[in-house]
Amino acid sequence: MLVDLHTHTTASDGALTPAELFERVRAAGVELWSVTDHDTVAAYADLAGVDGLRLVPGVELSATWSGRGVHIVGLNVGLGSAELLGMLGRQQAARERRAELIAKRLERRGLAVDLDAVRHGANGCSIGRPHFARALVASGQVRDVKTAFRKYLGAGKPGDVKTEWPDLAEAVAAIRAAGGTAVLAHPAKYRLTRSRLRCLADDFKAAGGRAIEVVCGPQEAGLGQRLAELAESLSFSVSLGSDFHAPVPWNQPGVPADVVRNCTPVWDRW
Ligand code: AMP
Ligand code: MN
Ligand code: MN
Ligand code: MN
Repeated sequence: MLVDLHTHTTASDGALTPAELFERVRAAGVELWSVTDHDTVAAYADLAGVDGLRLVPGVELSATWSGRGVHIVGLNVGLGSAELLGMLGRQQAARERRAELIAKRLERRGLAVDLDAVRHGANGCSIGRPHFARALVASGQVRDVKTAFRKYLGAGKPGDVKTEWPDLAEAVAAIRAAGGTAVLAHPAKYRLTRSRLRCLADDFKAAGGRAIEVVCGPQEAGLGQRLAELAESLSFSVSLGSDFHAPVPWNQPGVPADVVRNCTPVWDRW
């Protein structure tokens, strides 16, 4: 069985509309799917008629832990939850204020930023750094998105603004209030030492986190096994996803469920 519990659409920073992504996910043979856009569940309004596979409502919340940005995926959430919708409303307002701050910081670095064009590129929803990156490329100021992140938007660069995100525990609480399972997204992408990652995982568990992603898109051999061991040591269940954002040769939707044969899949409890 193929599952994919981490994907993005045009409702956040993905390239495909919810309907286009659905077609692609179904064609890939995925049987269990979640759309986990950044800080929004807007895509689900366009996914009401999905059939032929099981769609699990989800979201990827931006949060902070120890001054770092971390992502918490909420799966099997109640889309009508007042707590979750309140959190997402605050996140969208924070993204709008953050976008103004990012624009100012980039301008201070000598770049020309047309914030309305950036907003337009984001369809007015869940505006984020990738939309700035694309605008910088479109206006000919940087060569490609990768370069935009390396020079201006990536971790520690002027456009890396994360002061407004809720604390890890608040993000987990909103997911749990919506009846969902809180999953620590892509644990290896925070570039933490082994002991710091353990610390993050401990705090996540104390906050009510119940699962971690052991596969999140293309990753080095052996990482899945190491993360599965971390999951086991903390009695977390495990989640799998592609973090699909756009059709590219190196990342397709769908992860074989049996890569976690010796772990408890997060979907077991739904
Ligand atoms: P934001 O939600 O505004 O914090 O932007 C984070 C998103 O930017 C991630 O979800 C990725 O989709 C994208 N991203 C982060 N780092 C890079 C990078 N180095 N190159 C391209 N995209 C990136
Ligand atoms: Mn993204
Ligand atoms: Mn993420
Ligand atoms: Mn993601």
